[in-house]
Amino acid sequence: MAMAAKKPKSVARTIRPVAEPAGRSAAARKTRPSNPAAKPRAKPGKSARAPSKAHETAARKAVIATALLMSRTALSPGRSGNVSCRWREGMLITPTGMAYEELQPSDVAYVAANGAYNREGRKPSSEWRFHLSAYHARPEIGAVVHTHSLHATVLACAHRPIPAFHYMIAIAGGTDIPLIPYAPFGTQELAQLVRGSLADRSALLMANHGQIAVGNDLAAALELAREVEVLAEQYYKVLTLGKPKLLGAEAMADVLERFKGYGQNAQSRGNLSK
Ligand SMILES: [Zn+2]
Repeated sequence: MAMAAKKPKSVARTIRPVAEPAGRSAAARKTRPSNPAAKPRAKPGKSARAPSKAHETAARKAVIATALLMSRTALSPGRSGNVSCRWREGMLITPTGMAYEELQPSDVAYVAANGAYNREGRKPSSEWRFHLSAYHARPEIGAVVHTHSLHATVLACAHRPIPAFHYMIAIAGGTDIPLIPYAPFGTQELAQLVRGSLADRSALLMANHGQIAVGNDLAAALELAREVEVLAEQYYKVLTLGKPKLLGAEAMADVLERFKGYGQNAQSRGNLSK
């Protein structure tokens, strides 16, 4: 929580409104924030375990770029949402109480794997505990996006997980987008609930709160959060027409199998095959 989101100049088609399992659009590629943290590279002769300062600055900039994209696509209304990427043994995460537009790379907070952070520097988002628990739950992921996006939050407040009303639900790695019970923001209790539920999904709804999405990198996590919001809006509207016609277990097993063919275009490659 507690991130300001100023009105975007243009709600740009800056991220692809993912509707089909297809390749990224040129626009998405163009605006895709790089996440060097996901795949640390070292110059020949340098240790891969010791990324350079420039590399770290690039990772911090990528976190800010993703937060700005989240804000400008209306995915995080008001002062909501936070973004992190895996870094070294811990993570880099947006700080609490600062507008994204004002963020400098040095404002992005580093939180170690054990939850330690520099008390002299910017405080990490108050939600850092569940970000960290997501990385512990899923060693292969590189980024976490959390938002209070409108329709996902509406469903979360009605305690409605999203069932297989549409085949694209498989984008989150299973036959639904589950709902975890309510726990106060910023608590270890909430972090534990997130950790348990993310073990076999890449996105989930948080009761009376919002949504969380994870991915191999920042762009993938942001796109998945966007897709969760689209699905939530669709499901909300379907509910107004009556009882949805849900896809059965067999149909969804088929979809999940087909999603394996996403290859490198997968939003959450590796998770879809679970
Ligand atoms: Zn929140």
